[in-house]
Amino acid sequence: MSTKSIETQRPAIGQQEVLAFADEKFGITGELKELVSDRDQNFSITSDTATYVFKIANSDEDPAFLDLQNRALLHLAQTAPDLTLPRLLPALDSKDMAVLGDMASAHLVRVLTYVPGGLFSDTPKTTTLFSSLGTYIGKLSQGLQGFGHAAAHRPDFLWNLDNILSCETCVPDIIDENDRGIVQTYFDRYRKYTLPYIPSLRSAVIHNDINDNNIIVTENSDAVAAVIDFGDMVFACQINELATALAYALFDQDDIFAVSAAIISAYHKEFPLQRLEADLLFDLVAMRLVMSVCISSRRAKTELDNEYLFISQAPAFRLLAKLNIFDRDVLGDHVRSLCGFPRKGVETASVDIDQMIEHRKTVLGPSLSLAYKKHLKMVRGEGAYLFDHTGRAYLDCVNNISHAGHCHPHVVEALSKQAATLNTNTRYLHDTIQQYAERLLATLPDPLSVVYFVCSGSEANELALRLARTKTGRKGTVVLDWAYHGNTSTLVEISPYKFNRKGGVGKPDHVRIAEIPDPFRGRYKGNSPETSIAYARDVEACVADFMKETGEPPAAFIAESIAGVGGQILYPDGYLQHAYAAVRKAGALCIADEVQVGFGRVGTHMWAFEQQGVVPDIVTLGKPIGSGHPMAAVVTTREIADAFANGMEYFNSFGGNPVSCAVGMAVLDVIENEGLQQKALETGAYLLEGMRRLQDTYTIIGDVRGTGLFLGMELIKDIETLEPATDAADWIVQFCRDEGVLLSTDGPFENVIKMKPPMVFGQKEADLLLETLERAFEKLPYQ
Ligand code: PMP
Repeated sequence: MSTKSIETQRPAIGQQEVLAFADEKFGITGELKELVSDRDQNFSITSDTATYVFKIANSDEDPAFLDLQNRALLHLAQTAPDLTLPRLLPALDSKDMAVLGDMASAHLVRVLTYVPGGLFSDTPKTTTLFSSLGTYIGKLSQGLQGFGHAAAHRPDFLWNLDNILSCETCVPDIIDENDRGIVQTYFDRYRKYTLPYIPSLRSAVIHNDINDNNIIVTENSDAVAAVIDFGDMVFACQINELATALAYALFDQDDIFAVSAAIISAYHKEFPLQRLEADLLFDLVAMRLVMSVCISSRRAKTELDNEYLFISQAPAFRLLAKLNIFDRDVLGDHVRSLCGFPRKGVETASVDIDQMIEHRKTVLGPSLSLAYKKHLKMVRGEGAYLFDHTGRAYLDCVNNISHAGHCHPHVVEALSKQAATLNTNTRYLHDTIQQYAERLLATLPDPLSVVYFVCSGSEANELALRLARTKTGRKGTVVLDWAYHGNTSTLVEISPYKFNRKGGVGKPDHVRIAEIPDPFRGRYKGNSPETSIAYARDVEACVADFMKETGEPPAAFIAESIAGVGGQILYPDGYLQHAYAAVRKAGALCIADEVQVGFGRVGTHMWAFEQQGVVPDIVTLGKPIGSGHPMAAVVTTREIADAFANGMEYFNSFGGNPVSCAVGMAVLDVIENEGLQQKALETGAYLLEGMRRLQDTYTIIGDVRGTGLFLGMELIKDIETLEPATDAADWIVQFCRDEGVLLSTDGPFENVIKMKPPMVFGQKEADLLLETLERAFEKLPYQ
């Protein structure tokens, strides 16, 4: 990489000398003011009648480059007369430039008319202003058509985006490891998706540096007055012009789709984009940012006191991280649709969400709900992201079902291959069901050795209850308060979350509710042996009460290993050990509902009950088991399974079908191959740390809890009374949704913000979640 141009010192001519020279060579006198510049020395000179920009070129500057700029301005004066631009003021001898200094250090001096107004970087941004920028640049591109100059051909020029790969050597100079990783990803992606198409793009002489400090805005801030500083002009891909302008205009903009839409549409109207340009535009926006951070990181190594270098680095990294969450095709389709080209992937038709909601009401049962105040229509998923019908990406922090990540290619391939080969039921022999059963059972402790495959968590819990009831010959069930175990009649009867809420008919006689062992809000606080024993005593009391009233023990105690809808509640250590001991002493069975928390989500173990040091008699598995495919399972002991085989066949039309088993197998592959349990442990710890930092600042965060990627944040109004901050929790969730981060609330007071994302959620996603939460708490109106 050539660093010649960036090592040269700026000229440092004294003000008196400048004034004398301006008078002698250009006939202008007035008040002198130094302007900010990276490479040249620039002044404004204000006389009684006008203001001029007095530009002293770097002594290293090739006169041909200055001539290039002068010729371009003269060309534009002809081709785009209505475009406000700095105009060249000839010297008194009619030449374009004058020479200042001696042979040892000669500087070429040019004088341009000054365009009044403010800097775009200092101006509050509006859609009108962004459109105006698009229009201006479009006219500039149009105006520069047909302009040529030998000096514009600078293939090795550092700031030539066509030459971006030469910046790759600067990657090690980027200080932050995370930033370095993102930049390297962009280089890799550029090689793969962009570089092969560069030769097919049209080229032209472009301004090449339309950054927010080179754009002048009219006095009333509603339009772009001019673009200045043509010092980086180059013959390069035409689209680089718009890409550069977008890269800077999108700095710290919340809605990059809306802002880019305003600029691109206006540009396209003046100077139509070609389809390939539309596809590559955002790749090049990112690469322009990459170029900027690479060059500034390299220079920072040698120019320790040059703060100018860092002016654009921080927002550039922020924007790179933000763009990184969007799928290439989504960004490409966004530009395509603005330019009227057919979109590649996501829906082409515009969607009337309100109309869809109305239609849905006419064809679907009204007890179904829709998430968020502003409902979403999702059309695609990938990894930890969902994409709505506009192509906008949302970070999914709630869908623990898509365990391996949305549409994981390995899972999709296993599913489609088996679906294309055979799908039957368990009445035929099939290798996969047996192999899968064996593999799944290998993850569970003895004596859990027999599996039944079903289709949903509800079916799993139904079957678990049948197993327990058949084995014991009894029906009584002890449950934890606010638990949810499924949607069937039997399960609603044992789910306080359903029977004790709106539409519920209260607790049936065969059910006893034990208090939820909540170390934060419950009767006994904190995680200690005493609290776990105290809470387990309530389970014992439920069993005793049931025996006293009915004359027999209950059939089972069923509990999630960590309470989900109860509010992401981690029980005190050893609680289940004491509770299970009391239940078993009475001759009842223990069922662990792992529908939400299983398959490595808790980070430390494959199964959440292992954290509590217990082995249940029956375990139910669901949601994550098929990473989105409807399947579930019940695992139990040989003894219970044998007791259940009382002559009545258990048949499930779909449970254990070859397609589901192939999917289940593929999910286990991904968990193993991608180290998802370990990843959950690491990302979870990172998130907990970040959330605790937020808790230090925001007293409304009463508790931060969880393990692995099963986390919660409980909001309260008062640390003494623990009054729930329900409205605030809802506000945060809606805010984050608008910011592209999907969360939900749970718990009896809906004041617990819960996080249980796909397990491919890594540090990058965690950072985005934490940053968004931070912004949400900063703006929260309920402090
Ligand atoms: N158990 C628990 C703990 C659950 O969270 C759920 C679903 N939310 C179920 C069982 C029921 O699973 P499904 O919706 O797959 O029937």
